Amino acid sequence: MIPHGIIVVSSHRSIVVGGGVAGIAAAWRLAKAGRQVTLVESRHALGGRARSFPDPVVTGRLTDSCQHVVMGCCSSLLSLLRQMGLQGLLRPHPVIHFLSPGGRRSRFEASRLPPPVHLAWALAGLHHLGLADKAGIAASIASLAMRGTGAAGTFGEWLARRGQGPRVVRDFWDLVIVSALNQPSAGACPRLARKVFIDGFLAARDSHELRLPIVTLEDLFNIHMGERLAGAGVRILTATDCKSILQGHGRVTGIALRDGTRLEAGSVVLAVPWERLPAMLAGLPEGAVRCRGESLRRAGIAAVHLWFDRRVLPTPHAALVGATAQWLFRHPSADAGDGYLQAVVSGIDETDHDAESLANSVIRDIGRFCPASRRAKLIRSKVVRENLATFKVPPGVENDRPRPGMVFPGLAIAGDWTGTGWPATMEGACRSGIESATTLLAPRGC
Ligand SMILES: Cc1cc2nc3c(=O)[nH]c(=O)nc-3n(C[C@H](O)[C@H](O)[C@H](O)COP(=O)(O)OP(=O)(O)OC[C@H]3O[C@@H](n4cnc5c(N)ncnc54)[C@H](O)[C@@H]3O)c2cc1C
Repeated sequence: MIPHGIIVVSSHRSIVVGGGVAGIAAAWRLAKAGRQVTLVESRHALGGRARSFPDPVVTGRLTDSCQHVVMGCCSSLLSLLRQMGLQGLLRPHPVIHFLSPGGRRSRFEASRLPPPVHLAWALAGLHHLGLADKAGIAASIASLAMRGTGAAGTFGEWLARRGQGPRVVRDFWDLVIVSALNQPSAGACPRLARKVFIDGFLAARDSHELRLPIVTLEDLFNIHMGERLAGAGVRILTATDCKSILQGHGRVTGIALRDGTRLEAGSVVLAVPWERLPAMLAGLPEGAVRCRGESLRRAGIAAVHLWFDRRVLPTPHAALVGATAQWLFRHPSADAGDGYLQAVVSGIDETDHDAESLANSVIRDIGRFCPASRRAKLIRSKVVRENLATFKVPPGVENDRPRPGMVFPGLAIAGDWTGTGWPATMEGACRSGIESATTLLAPRGC
């Protein structure tokens, strides 16, 4: 006999709202722990910001809206892929190719020396830096590892205190920092910048390596991961919009969908961007949930997609020294005749480019950096700009990021924006999803 007024919701049932990497990871963790999981995603496909769009010309073919790179140090995401048996869908690239105008290249790869000095020879071999530059960089990285960045301020200010001049900052430090943090070092949080260099360059022999998907992002996240989730018993509802969180007697009881349907559950993971939370949490008692994400600010990334009539880049990818874009990527499964090339422009908010001037600038750069492009014909181009790609990471940003996990009885938050200690990446999203699910599985979680 259930006393009158008590709402009984099976604690066995969980809902994950948001089918990006964070939501996928949370749903997987909960399902593997025996929960009955429903994953609710408003778009037609899983993957969130790691998405693809239909090719404008070739029917049925998808193109990724922007290349997504996983580094060797992304242990949580790589572990998730292994658990799902999908690790083969990422191809490791042990060599990073640095490219400068005229097509001059350096191979940046680990030597036989043990970590943390396994990349010392690679640094020494970078063609575009002088001997004094390299010595300054090596000494600064060593100081970063041993002493940290010390006094408050931006990472750029720390570099200046280390005597790193504007050219070295542009051609080395910012090539890494803008790619990883989507913001130049001049405004960046020193703690996150330090993490990039320690985790990515010193921690392990393969931590700097790129892992690039050999299928489209939609295939990876929606088809392959979707199948694995379904195989683990997760019910996936795409094109389904969550409107709000339902609560009763001081704990979560489910969610309300935009069409009025109510789904009951004993626990809910909200794995959506921080901007979506206030509306979804409006029905909860005032002050019950403090998420603090409201101080975060969006940061954009643009991808310039170029279709040439032949291959113009000799390597699968290239880090560009002194160009508008930081990276060029060929199609991961391209054959020798495939002339598709994608240029990724991070830190786009710091420039005043509109789509047309951005495309023109990138095309001019390709003419300078890829001599083979002078014989090639550009067939078409498309600029995809994501204004909410990541969030800005000024000093102190960590105080604006709540920890992933429970924020109200039965309700946990996840997402790349939560306080994982990682920048806005798929790795951070994955960690947050696992962590938030784990708090719900704990005896007092739900
Ligand atoms: C252009 C670009 C390039 C990037 N490059 C890289 C890279 O190279 N490497 C890397 O690691 N990261 C990269 N990132 C960042 C990476 O994509 C994100 O950090 C990660 O995908 C975030 O995952 P998430 O699950 O936290 O959030 P999201 O991917 O934003 O997922 C949230 C999901 O919630 C859904 N949702 C929102 N509201 C509702 C609702 N009301 N009901 C139901 N569902 C809802 C959304 O549709 C979305 O699918 C890039 C991002 C962009 C945009």
